[in-house]
Amino acid sequence: MSATPALRAVARVAYFSSDVLVHSRSSHPIPTGFESTFDAAARTAQNKPTVLAVPFGADPGTTLLQNRPSGLLSYTTLSNPQILHHLIPHLAELASTSTVLHVAVAEDLSDALVLRSSVPFCIYSRTAQQAYDNALVASRLARTEGKAVLHIFHVGHDREPVSEVSEDRIPRFLAEKRATNGNGHHHSPSNGSTLSELGEDADESSRLFRAYEQAALATLVMVRRAIRPFYQHGSTEPHNLVMTVGRPSFAFVFVGISFVELSLLKPLPPARLLSVIPPSTQRVVVVEQVRRWQTKWTPLYLDIASVVHQAETENRPVVQSCILGDVEELEAVDVLKLLQRASTQDPSVRLELGSSSSIAAGTVATPHVPKHESSYTKMLSHLFGERLEISNSPDLVPSLGQLATSPEFTLGRIRGELEERAELVSIVQELLQDASIPAELHALLSKWVLVKDDGVKSKKVGEEVLAALEELKPSQVAAERVFSLRSHLNARSRWIIGSDAWSYDLGASGLHHAIASKLNINILILDTLPYSARNASDPSRRKQDVGLYAMNHGDVYVASVAVYSSYTHVLQALMEADKFEGPSVVLAYLPYQTEETPALEILKETKLAVDTGYWPLYRWNPAKERAGQDPFTLDSDAVKNDLQRFLDRQNHLSQLVRAQPQLAAELVGSLGENLKLARKQRAQQTYSELLTAIDAPPLLVLYASDSGKAEKVAKRLAARAKMRGLSASAATMDSITVEDLAKEEYVAFVTSVAGQGEFPQNGRTLAKTLNALAARGEQSLTNVRYTVFGMGDSHYWPRPEDAHYYNKAGKDLDARLEQLGAQRVAPLGLGDDQDADGPETGYKLWEPQLWKLLGVDAVEVQEAEPEPITNEHIKAASQYLRGTIVEGLEDNSTGALAPSDTQLTKFHGIYQQDDRDIRDERQAQGVEPAFSFMIRVRMPGGVCKPDQWLMMDQIADEHGNGTFKITTRQTFQFHGVIKRHLKSAIRDINRALLDTLAACGDVNRNVIVSAIPSLSKLHAQAYEFAKRVSERLLPRTTAYHEIWLDKKLVAGDALKDVEPLYGEFYLPRKFKVAVAVPPTNDVDIFANDVGFIAIVDEKGELAGFNVTAGGGMGVTHGNKKTYPRLGDVLGFCTVEQGCDIAEKIMLVQRDNGNREEYNARLKYTIDRMGLDVFKGEVEKLLGYQIQPARPFTFDRNVDDFGWHTDASGKHHFTCFIENGRIQDEPDRDFKAGLREIAKVHKGTFRLTANQHLVVTDVATEDLPQIKDLLAQYKLDNLSQSALRLSSSACVAFPTCGLAMAESERYLPILIDKVEKICEENGLRNDSIVMRMTGCPNGCARPYVAEVAFVGKAPGTYLMLLGGGYHGQRLNKIYRETVTEPEILAILKPMIKRYALERHEGEHFGDFVIRAGYIAPTTSGKAWYDKMGGEIAVASS
Ligand code: SF4
Repeated sequence: MSATPALRAVARVAYFSSDVLVHSRSSHPIPTGFESTFDAAARTAQNKPTVLAVPFGADPGTTLLQNRPSGLLSYTTLSNPQILHHLIPHLAELASTSTVLHVAVAEDLSDALVLRSSVPFCIYSRTAQQAYDNALVASRLARTEGKAVLHIFHVGHDREPVSEVSEDRIPRFLAEKRATNGNGHHHSPSNGSTLSELGEDADESSRLFRAYEQAALATLVMVRRAIRPFYQHGSTEPHNLVMTVGRPSFAFVFVGISFVELSLLKPLPPARLLSVIPPSTQRVVVVEQVRRWQTKWTPLYLDIASVVHQAETENRPVVQSCILGDVEELEAVDVLKLLQRASTQDPSVRLELGSSSSIAAGTVATPHVPKHESSYTKMLSHLFGERLEISNSPDLVPSLGQLATSPEFTLGRIRGELEERAELVSIVQELLQDASIPAELHALLSKWVLVKDDGVKSKKVGEEVLAALEELKPSQVAAERVFSLRSHLNARSRWIIGSDAWSYDLGASGLHHAIASKLNINILILDTLPYSARNASDPSRRKQDVGLYAMNHGDVYVASVAVYSSYTHVLQALMEADKFEGPSVVLAYLPYQTEETPALEILKETKLAVDTGYWPLYRWNPAKERAGQDPFTLDSDAVKNDLQRFLDRQNHLSQLVRAQPQLAAELVGSLGENLKLARKQRAQQTYSELLTAIDAPPLLVLYASDSGKAEKVAKRLAARAKMRGLSASAATMDSITVEDLAKEEYVAFVTSVAGQGEFPQNGRTLAKTLNALAARGEQSLTNVRYTVFGMGDSHYWPRPEDAHYYNKAGKDLDARLEQLGAQRVAPLGLGDDQDADGPETGYKLWEPQLWKLLGVDAVEVQEAEPEPITNEHIKAASQYLRGTIVEGLEDNSTGALAPSDTQLTKFHGIYQQDDRDIRDERQAQGVEPAFSFMIRVRMPGGVCKPDQWLMMDQIADEHGNGTFKITTRQTFQFHGVIKRHLKSAIRDINRALLDTLAACGDVNRNVIVSAIPSLSKLHAQAYEFAKRVSERLLPRTTAYHEIWLDKKLVAGDALKDVEPLYGEFYLPRKFKVAVAVPPTNDVDIFANDVGFIAIVDEKGELAGFNVTAGGGMGVTHGNKKTYPRLGDVLGFCTVEQGCDIAEKIMLVQRDNGNREEYNARLKYTIDRMGLDVFKGEVEKLLGYQIQPARPFTFDRNVDDFGWHTDASGKHHFTCFIENGRIQDEPDRDFKAGLREIAKVHKGTFRLTANQHLVVTDVATEDLPQIKDLLAQYKLDNLSQSALRLSSSACVAFPTCGLAMAESERYLPILIDKVEKICEENGLRNDSIVMRMTGCPNGCARPYVAEVAFVGKAPGTYLMLLGGGYHGQRLNKIYRETVTEPEILAILKPMIKRYALERHEGEHFGDFVIRAGYIAPTTSGKAWYDKMGGEIAVASS
């Protein structure tokens, strides 16, 4: 809709008068006049409001409620039932806020007037000038009264004149005090008489009316135009009075007729209304432009009729209602004819004015369905196909009207349909009794009766029945009736889809009737309220738990599902609901604010809701109860209290606990109670310890630490304090309350910094509390003496504008404590990673001041300070990787293992993690993090058989989070395995003849091999070699089998383990081996500690390998002692020599690697020793010299997607699995598809090191079947851009404990945007290797990508450029911190230049170097040289 003067005028007032402005977009792709006016206003406005756009179809109410400012909130929208009906439930709460709702109407006022009854004020504007003036009145009124004002105005046409005041006057006008008359009194009403003179009680309606008049008067003073509630003209002593609300003008002059144009539609105090009806009036015709009004009586007619009816007068006029059609102009004759009809018709008959066609027309557009909701509707179509009937589908609206989507109407329709079907069944049964019907038809009808409720079979048999009826033409009347009811032969799956608004009033929403109907219907209720917005949404109105309500009702199937938590669970529930004979209610969670809400946000909100029990996943199937089974299935771990009470009441809980004893401990936050108790006991114990150590001043060391570095410093400080005779203890900041802190005498704080200057997780709560107290100006810590040591990295924030983030947490804490009255006893200490000794440099200056203050600086400390416990100690003390894992697994009081055991379980292929998305929320609830475990399989070369695949699929469902991941080390990884499932998961993996031993930890990891589908013979040889290397380098400890597979020790408890290769310390760090088969470098051979590059002889046979050593990816942000490095080629070896060489390289590393915190990987060992010396050591162990290297060529490190046929005639298909995640998603049931393929596939599966999958060794005769399955599940879709096909990301959030930023969940979103840039420049099919990791550890090998992003903080990445296309060159840091807008701004011109200026065949990584964007990296050690892009290059 274009910007008419009225739209522009209202938009400007809304913009210049508001603090927050919410706007609903229209369904039309072109922006409305509102948006263009806001944009124009933003260019001149001095004080800009916050402008929030709500997508068309989304609920604006939640946005309005969540963004209520202290000043004025305005909302603008075009009138549309879909938008306005969303508002209704929120109006009760909005009514008492300073809110103006500007609703622009094209013609008909019905939809907008629906809102009138729920707001205190409703003002109507017919012309553009009125719209402007009334917009000012409305804004003023809302501000002064703190109430909501509905302003309905006509869009009008583009020639209407509007006179406006200058925009800078508007804020002043709004801020002015209430208008007074010249005597300083409030101005009297417009006709000069006062309220008391009119005999009105000062009731609420009158009070509001007076407030309106005040606002109107104030506006008049500014705009110099009269603003009245009613505009009256015509005869002063009329017989007929026409009261109008509508667009056409009634500017006619007739004898005996008067016209009142209503501008104020609410409040309408009776006395005011009566004052415009002269005593001479015999007939009042109320004309309203509301042709789509749904109920019998129109809104204003009712008000006026009732006022007139109650008036104490002898000559009460007749009041008649008239509907005005959509007409722009009226003729005088139209009005006269109207009054003529009025005088002759029964007053109760409604009159019409304007063309009847316009009144009758009322074409209604199909309501818009928000796009996110298709996640569920697609599943319904997918499951039920043609037999799906969405009984209240928006598609029915154009033919049936708005009512088509209402539950009551729909229920009526369904009831009718079901009755017809019941009739069909009984007629068929009647026919079957008739001996005269043809035998063939009899047989078919009997068959139909048997299958009538089966979705597929009833359709098939139904078609046969119809064909028989048409062919045989039986004479029975009943047969004709069957034919007429033929649409009911198919069993349909009937669904009513509704929103959670139904839950507010079960009775009014029709939901109660549906549940109580006992009809075979399915109701899907979508709840879109995000978990994090649940409290703000509407505390005064409570949603009823429809699930509980329905379960209490009895024979109703109920399920609570969330597609972003478990796709499979939703499928199960929908199928069960469909099958259930009777009403089924499926509550589906889909938390989103607007249509633009990204899927990632929905996923996070869903996880929070499910994890906390706010949205439990369950199914209640009364059909099971009838079969003697438990009707309740809990599919998530936590349930709400009220749900539990229900279960208790139903006596199901006891059955459930018997069936699943572990459930009892996990119900309803009992874990949190245990934890709180444990904390309290610990606090008491600490306190008593303090009391006993009264001879020395107590020192409390509080720390906040994410990586453990600050924790180490704090604990060391406490240990040193004890050695100086102090009573010292260390604890996390969040373990203490402010009240307890206030009782402390000396407190030393040690904190590192997270993200953009935030506190580490275990210090955030205390920090927030201190901030809040300081903001309130409290002095609650006056007894505390404190000092703070902050740890950070000044290099981390290279841009001057970001420099203040350096050590921000420590600085903030120091200042905050001072504000709270605490006494600083030693100045803030700052440790900087960039100093010569790292943070120790600053620490050494800070610590002595503390000893001095405490009077212990002269104490001589004789004993060596206890060394902090390191990984090396843990390994050595672990009895060959046993530790206390067994005991930890049996401890039900926590979902975690002991910290030292978590170091050991890595060697068993297990990482302890916690869900980062919900960490804060759980901490706030006082429960421990949501611990779970990642399990990584050892599977050399990434090859597995179909039955192994099926087992993995099942393990993911039974023990994990329902998905699994193909990793960059060519293996499977399961996430979300909780502690009690660990052992069974590992056993199941072993049952599949795979294991997890050494998949992580300081040992040789999974050996990877090029997938090369077209060279299967070479692959087979390389694969066999990889398996031999893997076996050779495997740890020999029996702990793995003992712990996970219950294999007993040979004799008593005496440990027999020896580790001939590793010894009790194992390796200093992880060790990685890869085998590449040129020309494919899909394993990124140079990124591995040891690489074997296959060399083929003249006959095409594998002759041996070129051996590389010293590659590695991981670095630490900002620490220049760490860097990525590419492996060096040492020389050539035969296949037989290969295993020995791998082993000897590993042994040299074992004995020479640095076991300190940094620089432990082989890459640093080689650089420290020098390549020649290192090689010499290896050769010494080998007893011979390694031969010179042979020539080889790589041309790519990306996968060969699609079909390939090898020399033996076998076929191989490489599927694109984005970032390796095997899961079912709407429209992409990859997990299900691969399961189906695995059921029939006779070859093998090969995982690629780029996280994709090759379905290998398909015989020609099996090709059609595999192709069909690939197509059916869209696994053959390779139409993605070359950029996407060449991308990869590590897991990162939510499971990886080291992640600093999103990776797997974000890279696809970023690629959507970069892809567009590539497409614009004609590069859709040009491969650019783009990789992303959530931290600098580099699991997705980002440092050899042409362009890479490495997480630094949420939403912030290090950007690297210039890697070699086939992994032959490291890239280099181009920008130290980039966010998405910066990434796109950088890449756009760069990609454009690449498209225009590249040489034939030149890859992007080479181009950016040639074009001068970045310098080439020549070696790992030179990685930091000339970093920073053009500037550094230019100035070098
Ligand atoms: S690169 Fe970092 S964030 Fe990504 S998976 Fe590896 S350790 Fe986790």
